Amino acid sequence: ATHEETLGFQTEVKQLLHLMIHSLYSNREIFLRELISNAADACDKLRYEALDNDAIFEGDSELRIEIEHDQDAGTITLRDNGIGMSRDEVIENLGTIARSGTSEFLKQLSGEQQKDANLIGQFGVGFYSGFIVADDITVRTRKAGTDASDGVEWRSRGEGEFSVADIELERHGTEIVLHLKEDAREFADDFRLQSLVRKYSDHIDVPVRMPKVEKARDEEGNEIEGSETTTWETVNEATALWVRPKSEINDEEYKAFYKHVAHDFSDPLAWSHNKVEGKLEYTSLLFVPGRAPFDLYERDGARGVKLYVQRVFIMDDAEQFLPLYLRFVKGVLDTRDLSLNVSRELLQQDPQVDKIKSALTKRSLDMLKKLAKDNDAYQTFWNTFGSVLKEGPAEDHANREKIAGLLRFSSTHTDSATQDQSLADYIGRMKEGQEKIYYIVADGFNATKNSPHLEIFRKKGIEVLLLHDRIDEWLMSHLTEFEGKAFVDVAKGDLDLGEVEDEEEKKAQEETAKAKEDLVKRVKEALGETVQEVKVTHRLTDSPACVVLPEHEMGYQMRRIMEAAGQ
Ligand code: ADP
Ligand code: MG
Repeated sequence: ATHEETLGFQTEVKQLLHLMIHSLYSNREIFLRELISNAADACDKLRYEALDNDAIFEGDSELRIEIEHDQDAGTITLRDNGIGMSRDEVIENLGTIARSGTSEFLKQLSGEQQKDANLIGQFGVGFYSGFIVADDITVRTRKAGTDASDGVEWRSRGEGEFSVADIELERHGTEIVLHLKEDAREFADDFRLQSLVRKYSDHIDVPVRMPKVEKARDEEGNEIEGSETTTWETVNEATALWVRPKSEINDEEYKAFYKHVAHDFSDPLAWSHNKVEGKLEYTSLLFVPGRAPFDLYERDGARGVKLYVQRVFIMDDAEQFLPLYLRFVKGVLDTRDLSLNVSRELLQQDPQVDKIKSALTKRSLDMLKKLAKDNDAYQTFWNTFGSVLKEGPAEDHANREKIAGLLRFSSTHTDSATQDQSLADYIGRMKEGQEKIYYIVADGFNATKNSPHLEIFRKKGIEVLLLHDRIDEWLMSHLTEFEGKAFVDVAKGDLDLGEVEDEEEKKAQEETAKAKEDLVKRVKEALGETVQEVKVTHRLTDSPACVVLPEHEMGYQMRRIMEAAGQ
């Protein structure tokens, strides 16, 4: 080895390694999934590069991953003939964490096993997970299409620094040798490795092979010393999961696949697998996660689907195929309708993209509708992603009604802060003669629940939706009706309870108004310019007076948002 240097890990990597080495004992086996996943990505990248440069295969176009182990030495070796890395790439990729939000991620680490394991999976800091089981890792790699002398050897004990050196490497791709810790030697075992590959990597497109050593036997059936022959056996299914027929895929396989694409440790809540032929030709496999990623509300948070064109991996996080309000949906899109050399820029101009986007939007909404049949699961979904879905009516007018049907609210029916009532529930409970859907928006659940505006409704037994999320006023400014029933803000304008009010009551109200004309005049004079108008109201039963906004006035929350935005 020549040109050897020792470098320090980026601070964030050091912190991460410390955590992995000292506090991640549960779920240790995921290191294998992460390393196989990287190897498969490397094969995908090479296949993609080779589309317009066949020579880059160096005559070795049968992409594969090999796993070997040595029980005596306590090592596991993973090898791929994918894209490989240059020296600079090695230093960059295996010495730093490039993703945005790294420090945010580290701040969230709690030292609590399961929680942190989830975060790590989510963050996809896969390579470093090798140090959960290894006290020494050696990586030998060469970028496809370069000279044999361009090989690089990276080595580290996971303790703050790593070394890099130039080496000769005949084959391109990457080889990773894990020297297992004393207490992790159980992984250097044929059976264990095979079952882990099947558990985590069955769906990976690239074959994962393991050597099978056989000895010839003599006439009496005894093994003949020195007659070992090694054959490579493919351990995983090795076909892309979404390509296989639905009927042949079981739930466990879908779940394992989800964990792979979403970098998540926990199960998805739902999935939808569709093959479409005809004008549009695509296969999609979409998932609803059970947990929110840490960057759900960040502008540059990762979102979108993994894009394949005719089974060739094109890019991660292709965000053009789903609207923003469905950014929590994860999955894969494989299509024939785009060209293989499509780029992010080209995606923005391609008219096919919009067609697929509206198809996937529909699929996602249908998937949620189906999920809604399971109350508990849907509540988990709603508590996690409800406020994102509430962005929907503003962003996607065409699907407004569909989205509205998926919304859940607090309501005077339950008087609970839990948002678990649908508009259909509300309509089903409407009073005879009631034509409108009544709601109130305020800051915080208690402010809605205790609002004086509700007095008359409570008295009459008319249900009111209690909206207390930051986004609710924005939502309601884009929702005008559901199933033909208009939404009415009970804190705005004149209150018309429609047929629910009987004639006698109306008459009584008019008489009261007349009798109080004098009082109204005096109050108006006293308040002067600070109010637009003073009126006798029938919406209160206990409180003496309340402030009402004119019908088309911006609400309190919106004002606050606008003010905060400096407008
Ligand atoms: P991620 O896979 O989420 O990017 P990892 O920590 O798993 O994060 O890997 C970091 C980077 O190291 C990868 O993005 C890739 O560029 C590089 N890398 C890791 N393993 C390999 C490999 N087997 N072949 C080529 N590049 C690899
Ligand atoms: Mg990875």
